[in-house]
Amino acid sequence: MNNPFQNALSQLARANKVKPFNPEFMSRLHQPNREVHISIPVKMDDGTLKIFEGYRVQYNNARGPYKGGIRYHQDTEINEVKALAFWMALKCAVANIPMGGGKGGITVDPKELTKTELENLSRGWVKLMAPLIGPEVDVPAPDVNTTPEIMGWMVDEYSKITGDKTNATFTGKPISVGGSEGRGPATGLGGFYTFKVMQEKLSLPESCDIVIQGFGNVGGNAAEILANDGHKIIALSDSKGAIIKEDGIDIVALNEYKKVNKRIGGFPGSREITNAELLVLPCDVLIPSALENQITEENANNIQAKLVMELANGPTTPEADDILYSRGIPVIPDILANAGGVTVSTFEWEQNLIGEHWTEADVFAKLKKIMDQETNLIYNRSKELNTDLRRTAFIVALERIEQAIK
Ligand code: GLU
Repeated sequence: MNNPFQNALSQLARANKVKPFNPEFMSRLHQPNREVHISIPVKMDDGTLKIFEGYRVQYNNARGPYKGGIRYHQDTEINEVKALAFWMALKCAVANIPMGGGKGGITVDPKELTKTELENLSRGWVKLMAPLIGPEVDVPAPDVNTTPEIMGWMVDEYSKITGDKTNATFTGKPISVGGSEGRGPATGLGGFYTFKVMQEKLSLPESCDIVIQGFGNVGGNAAEILANDGHKIIALSDSKGAIIKEDGIDIVALNEYKKVNKRIGGFPGSREITNAELLVLPCDVLIPSALENQITEENANNIQAKLVMELANGPTTPEADDILYSRGIPVIPDILANAGGVTVSTFEWEQNLIGEHWTEADVFAKLKKIMDQETNLIYNRSKELNTDLRRTAFIVALERIEQAIK
């Protein structure tokens, strides 16, 4: 049974074994500061009333306001949100941005709602959470299935309720309501900067064969950026299925195809495979960019990548980490590899608070500096500590959080 929060705590214990931290500090990190459950009433288009379960977990704010996305997914539940909130606290520390960790969610399959219902649900989340969030307190953002448009509704609802005019309570907003240049591709791009550092360290080929699980905001942008850098995306999946095309998938054409067909299966020149097959394809880099618990003790022995880069949160279980480590396959952990999103979110929050709007070039340059620096630091520390990149990233994050508490 893979409870994401149990996995997160087990990762914490494993890092603490390599470098023991103060036991009081450790026990403090075993539960969130605050866990909020709400029931959101939504008037459906057919006139009926439906109640949705919503959450916000405010894990740790030693380094700054709670920060993290809101996930809309039919399987979202409190243990997942707690794990995601915990990882956000570590991620913000890894990126060395002045934020703590939080996460929110609603148990819903947004594809089953009309646009009006989705808007009412999103505004409903804000109505109930408004007293608990704010620019200096807790700053939510997009996550799985939540878009800039949804952030736009949320920030509008928040300002209606509180009169706040900064727009700084939500990030990942449309540019017209204070969004930042570059927030859309930020997670994929941050992962790309990390990949470039690791490509050199691990002497990976100049043109890598890459497999990407997930074709949402993160996987889609990563695919495009990596293809533009001369790599071959040989296989890809979305929530409905997976495709392979050994001579490389044209990502621009695939985007067009998906817009029309609402799926990637059937893309001309490709073959359909299963998600399980996708994960174990021979390749240089495997990039899980979807959900948790994808690489487990069931399939870790069959992974044939030279490098795993986690753009999803929590895709690899601790048991799988051990197997991959013993097989010499490095895993760039989520809290480093996908930190680009929250980093540009933090730039957005800063711009809102000081009333500036930075250029895309400025945003990308600042992001690259952070990703390059922290990737190098974590790689070098892992050599000193003689452990994997996840334990090292945890240790670096924990040192920074502990420092802030002191
Ligand atoms: N949901 C993203 C993550 O998991 C971004 C969070 C944010 O921008 O605050 O890192």
